[in-house]
Amino acid sequence: MIPVTKTFLPSQEEYNSYLKRAWDKAWLTNRGELTLELEEKLKNFLNVSNLIITNNGTIPIQIALKLFGKGGEIITTPFSYVATSAAIVWENCTPVFVDIHPDYLTIDETKIESAITPKTTAILATHVFGNPCHVVEIERIAKKYNLKVIYDAAHCFGVQYNNQSVFNFGDVSTCSFHATKIFHTGEGGAMFCNDKETYHQLFYSHNFGHNGPLAFHGLGINAKISELQAAMGLAVFPHLSSIFAERKKVVDFYNENLNFDTIRSLKIRENTEWNYSYYAVIFDSEDTLLKILDALAKENIIPRRYFYPSLNTIEYTKGDKMPISESIASRILCLPLYVGISTADLEKIVRTINTQTL
Ligand SMILES: *Cc1c(COP(=O)(O)O)cnc(C)c1O
Repeated sequence: MIPVTKTFLPSQEEYNSYLKRAWDKAWLTNRGELTLELEEKLKNFLNVSNLIITNNGTIPIQIALKLFGKGGEIITTPFSYVATSAAIVWENCTPVFVDIHPDYLTIDETKIESAITPKTTAILATHVFGNPCHVVEIERIAKKYNLKVIYDAAHCFGVQYNNQSVFNFGDVSTCSFHATKIFHTGEGGAMFCNDKETYHQLFYSHNFGHNGPLAFHGLGINAKISELQAAMGLAVFPHLSSIFAERKKVVDFYNENLNFDTIRSLKIRENTEWNYSYYAVIFDSEDTLLKILDALAKENIIPRRYFYPSLNTIEYTKGDKMPISESIASRILCLPLYVGISTADLEKIVRTINTQTL
């Protein structure tokens, strides 16, 4: 079987060498030395000023919404993973959808202002497949209307925009270190911000509000990662440059060999150093997509309809119609992309798609 993705694993010896340090100290959580070491390494690697590692990539979105959403309306994208919308509803805020740009697939910044009301408190947008939103224009709008900006940057590990980490944009950016993401800790994630005061709020929030063992500084939850997960992150970390290089080879292969007469791929925003996180192809119709899914399944190739469905169509969001997002969601497929996929498998995928789209 050729799956859409496959988790990158370090050797068990590498993993065990980090686990041993947890064993020796009998210290498994509460920001132990492995977690602190991983935070330091990631901070340097990504070149960001503030970073807090969390136990998944959804809870940092919830924490940011708890602090800045204040139960109001959140302007958001219908084209993302369900966690983006679910976090808004979970935090008792109301999602207000704004349709996406048809090429970049990120929220259409030109449609944001007309969706703002007196109840709007924040903008929560996703850098789709690691492709940055128009962060400059979004920041201008947010300043004008005094809104907070939160980026779901779950796909963005290693992405640079305008010569800096894309995590540096917005009041808070979040990332996922889930096993299917480029850099992973099994389950895990992180939140990023530039402002020191925001950093303190995020930090207290992720650890029950603890300010020392006996005092509390605001409402908090448990978003801490364990040392077992941090050990995985530390063991994966030294492989990052080869992970990016291997993924680039797969992306280059698709770019060079797919027939783009009737299909198209994601348009990456100018001034972006992309991370090869997903290979999305958009077909001319849902019928074509279904035909291709079928043909691929016969070859035991299992890509993923990602993202599907458009989030404004989910029962609990009850959003307005979003024609572009709904159309794209019905026709988009993410192709297999992982370290170790063979050239023979890539040839089979490309042959099957090209034959079907002739
Ligand atoms: C993976 C993902 C999340 C959730 O991250 P978890 O670590 O699985 O909680 C949120 N948003 C997007 C866009 C994602 O792809």
